Order: sequence, then C-alpha cells, then structure tokens
Amino acid sequence: MLNKTGVPSLSLIKTKFPEQNKLFKAKAITECYEEIPCNPCSTSCPFEAITIGEDINKLPVVDFDKCTGCGICVYSCPGLAIFTVALKKEKAIFKIPYELLPYPKVDETWKAVNRDGLVIGEAIIKKVILKPKQDRTLLVEVEVDKNLLYDFITIKE
Ligand code: SF4
Ligand code: SF4
Repeated sequence: MLNKTGVPSLSLIKTKFPEQNKLFKAKAITECYEEIPCNPCSTSCPFEAITIGEDINKLPVVDFDKCTGCGICVYSCPGLAIFTVALKKEKAIFKIPYELLPYPKVDETWKAVNRDGLVIGEAIIKKVILKPKQDRTLLVEVEVDKNLLYDFITIKE
C-alpha cells in the first residue's frame, strides 16, 4: 500500500506506536518508512531515545522508555516525519510540525486531516511554539478526539 499510494496501511502505522498504556505521557512516533541516509532525529534527541545505528540508511527506532515527548526531534526531522502523541481521557494530544501560512493560533479550531488529506474531525490548537533553533518549523500542540489516534496526521484551516 505504501509503495502504491504513498500512504501507509493501518497495520504499518501501528508498528510505530507503543502500547496505548504508555501514552499517558507524550511519545515520539517516527513515520519514517524508507531507508534513506538521514539521522537528525537521532542526533537531536537529548535523551538518546532514537537509534539508527552505524548504517545511516537504517530506519529510526524509538525507545519509548527513554522518550520524554519533548518534541525536539519533531522540528529537527527534515522530512516532517515525526510527531508526538499522548492520551488524556477521551482526547489525543499531538505535537506536530507545521510550516504553512497562515500559522495557527492558540484556541482556534482547525480541521483534523488524515494521511489521505481528508478532513476527519476537529483539532483544537493548544500551543504554538516557534523558537529560533526550530528554523521556521512550528511545533503545534493540538487536541483531537481519541478515536483519531491512528488516523490524524495534520491540520488545515
Ligand atoms: S520527543 Fe524528545 S525525547 Fe522523545 S525521541 Fe524526540 S527528542 Fe527524544
Ligand atoms: S530525521 Fe526524519 S526523515 Fe530522517 S531518519 Fe529521522 S525520522 Fe526519518
């Protein structure tokens, strides 16, 4: 499915997630499926939670016990292939990378979008973080319905 459409299957997506009982705190999800020479996710993590190994072409592997959900790898990935997610009651709290204009603002309601580009619900903007070291990649914290855990990928106005 990934090769034909560029969209990973649900079963492939789930291989990148920890068990849901680990998501009481935010964890990094690396949606990186192609072996390419790239490793900023690994080198940027201050907790050594992402391993690629000696062969830079290998896929990143997250140690969910080490990951604090800080989000540094999210804006460090040049492919915008990482987000963090935590579950809080009936909501999923994502931190996603975002580079388009206009920028979202706190408390706005945007559309939640899936990997096919389809609108699947509402996304409440909770935080918008942009520090100089992020090199113009916003870190946007959004709250969506918990049922969208494996479907949500980004927002649109
Ligand atoms: S969210 Fe933070 S701790 Fe977790 S893998 Fe990314 S950089 Fe490391
Ligand atoms: S930085 Fe992003 S694209 Fe590069 S290996 Fe890590 S997850 Fe994949």
